[in-house]
Amino acid sequence: MNVLTLNSGSSSVKYQLIRPDKKEVLCSGQVERIGIDGTRIVHKTNDEKIKKELDISNHKGAIDSILEIMTDEEIGALEGLDEIDAIGHRLVHGGDKFAHSVLIDDDVMETLHECKDFAPLHNPPNIKGVEAAEERLPGKPNVGVFDTAFHSTLPPEAYLYAIPYRYYREESIRKYGFHGTSHYYVASRAAQMLDKDIENMNIITCHLGNGASVAAVKNGKSIDTSMGFTPLEGLVMGTRSGDIDPGVIFYIAEEENMSIEEANQFFNKKCGVLGLSEDTNDMRDLEEKALAGEKQYKITMDVYHYRIKKYISAYLGIMNGVDAIVFTGGVGENSDYTREDSLKNMDNLGIVVDKEKNDGLRGKEAIISADESDVDILVIPTNEELVIAQETARILKEK
Ligand code: ADP
Repeated sequence: MNVLTLNSGSSSVKYQLIRPDKKEVLCSGQVERIGIDGTRIVHKTNDEKIKKELDISNHKGAIDSILEIMTDEEIGALEGLDEIDAIGHRLVHGGDKFAHSVLIDDDVMETLHECKDFAPLHNPPNIKGVEAAEERLPGKPNVGVFDTAFHSTLPPEAYLYAIPYRYYREESIRKYGFHGTSHYYVASRAAQMLDKDIENMNIITCHLGNGASVAAVKNGKSIDTSMGFTPLEGLVMGTRSGDIDPGVIFYIAEEENMSIEEANQFFNKKCGVLGLSEDTNDMRDLEEKALAGEKQYKITMDVYHYRIKKYISAYLGIMNGVDAIVFTGGVGENSDYTREDSLKNMDNLGIVVDKEKNDGLRGKEAIISADESDVDILVIPTNEELVIAQETARILKEK
């Protein structure tokens, strides 16, 4: 079975063509800068990478370009579109409506439209991606895999906010959590790598990319996670503040005369390590300058690492100890500095990183805990697309 996975953002569509049973990627790539100047496709096959300028202006145009390059006579992985069996979509926010992946039909589309307000940045482009796929690949099944689904097992004490209960009862305002597909993948993979049964494990997974979240995974189920009703809660991120005294939001909004929408944009787009460093949200730059001793960058990284450590410590407490801690995402997979600094001085809790195993490790699966560490510490590159393709195949089999 060939599954086309689509991750449709506001200005990009990332794709992979996957054989889920063989865990084989036939080709992958992304259309970038949709609706902006310089739209292009970057397409990767097993032996080459091609970049091509595109003259398109929307998601339908992007899907057309993807299908065209996949069936190109010279470099295409497919002879024709009939070789695509199904499309698996990454969908960000399922609200309280979707706790599992779904086969997309008219009712599901209607519900997705209703969930739009929950994730105004992510859900509308996700929906455009589904509509474009339905139009350009008529008759093919489309499956939605939600970022929130893995966290649907959170207990009420973890997902309720201390606001009048009717906001939960009537408006479904609660913690949902995100990056679920990634947390699920790395937790499962950690159990496999350690040759243990995930049903008997406590695992903390740290997905550290531009957006970032931590999850507490007990017996294979997510029981708490740092992102909330929206992706703004929790860790310090590239441009999001993460946890903050809501009083600061009121104060700055009043001081700067911001509307609610402007404040929303500000705390999502201008804060985090970008705001703290007053320079950039690129972790590579921040890390280099912090390690070179530049003060503003050092304090930025200290705040970033301290917040990760605080969440790990909280989840150690709620799970009464853990078997494994996993790092993933662009930063988690690549930054030895972040892994070491977030876990430093935790030896009394049985957490010790092996410096030699950690130093210089980038983008590869590895166990980086020291021999004397009670807790296994792992680095696992995430693979959300594989989970999406596998979920798509599973849903179609059950149909
Ligand atoms: P997104 O959340 O957009 O999917 P990614 O998971 O791709 O993000 O992570 C992007 C982040 O990873 C960027 O901040 C980038 O600087 C960081 N990153 C990539 N490589 C390294 C590296 N070698 N060291 C530190 N950070 C890195």
